[in-house]
Amino acid sequence: MAQLSPLLKQATPVVVDHGEGVYLYDTNGRRNLDFTAGIGVTSTGHCHPKVVAAAQEQIGKLIHGQYTTVMHKPLLELTESLGDVLPEGLDSLFFANSGSEALEAALRLSRQATGRPNVIVFHGGFHGRTVATASMTTSGTRFSAGISPLMAGVHVAPFPNAFRYGWDEATATKFALQELDYLFATMSAPNETAAFVIEPVLGEGGYVPGNTEFFAGLRERADRHGILLVIDEVQTGFGRTGKFWGHDHFDVRPDVIAIAKGLASGFPLSGIAASTELMAKAWPGSQGGTYGGNAVSCAAAKATLEVIQEEGLVENAAARGRQLLDGAKLVADKTPQIGDVRGLGLLVGSEFTTADGGPDNATAQAVQKAAAERGLLLLTCGAHMNVVRMIPPLVVTAEQIDEALAIWADAVAAATKN
Ligand code: PMP
Repeated sequence: MAQLSPLLKQATPVVVDHGEGVYLYDTNGRRNLDFTAGIGVTSTGHCHPKVVAAAQEQIGKLIHGQYTTVMHKPLLELTESLGDVLPEGLDSLFFANSGSEALEAALRLSRQATGRPNVIVFHGGFHGRTVATASMTTSGTRFSAGISPLMAGVHVAPFPNAFRYGWDEATATKFALQELDYLFATMSAPNETAAFVIEPVLGEGGYVPGNTEFFAGLRERADRHGILLVIDEVQTGFGRTGKFWGHDHFDVRPDVIAIAKGLASGFPLSGIAASTELMAKAWPGSQGGTYGGNAVSCAAAKATLEVIQEEGLVENAAARGRQLLDGAKLVADKTPQIGDVRGLGLLVGSEFTTADGGPDNATAQAVQKAAAERGLLLLTCGAHMNVVRMIPPLVVTAEQIDEALAIWADAVAAATKN
């Protein structure tokens, strides 16, 4: 008899039978509020009827068409639809299956286009679990331990993580940019640096938003030195933060964006977008794989984009996100163990800290467990797994946010009482 590898360790004992909207129904017949959205992939909610219908229709027509041999209609149609939402100037798309592959593609493109070896990543960033992307990940040693030697050519600069440093945002930003310049002078000369690779909001690293001044500093240095600015929108794209792209909050122009998760409502699909001119500097055959741009995934993604637009999900994420953040702050006000509450849109994290300000992983895990027992599914993140994050599907209603906040308050109270 076969069994699951311990690698597939679950955070909760829930076994799902089916999903609908914001709810996951388990095999015991219980309804759970899914505030993990499958780590943000179910932008339109579980099994949105329009996404299901598009996928079902496509599966009877064509499942797979290898884009190195033939092009297929769903891929062309999705490319056209994405044209309406991509950042200005990024008009060329390449498709893969997972977020990690998208970041691999961005790394390859950056090296191929610039002929330079190094990338600079930002402390707390997460970019995937392949060896190359794990080498670019600094949100926890669990992602890179035991697989060394890691890829060479990766340098790490600070992220303006004000709460971690105990500074205000302006001080943290000034420090981060100064350290970046110091890194140029000491570790990775600008003319050896192919790209900055950065998330608009540290995701796995603990839900820490960047800021406009910091991104302006990166853009200015990128322009001055011919370095590419690669923005990882895998967790923050497609309305999650209350604007279509996470970087829209910071008024910055990326050279490359990496997309996945919310793109196809749970179907495996990812990609990168860049200008035609930049993309032309990579060569066919150097990127890609058997399944990239799968026809069913592309059809689901096109339907996803339509749902996001028709149902006003970006606006909903902004409004419901404010409600969620405000509610989480009220709970934090009454809970000394919650040191900080942060977020943008429907991406909200509560950081659990000890009396001396250190990470309190045990309480975060206890709260997560108490919430799951009460029918609210949550995930942790952060280097110490001491940040509990809330990322419901973008279709979440005001009533469902209230319901989740009531469970959250109860779970926090239960797990923190001595
Ligand atoms: N980048 C970011 C910002 C992510 O959040 C993730 C997944 N958590 C990835 C890349 C990797 O995506 P995948 O798990 O699909 O490989």
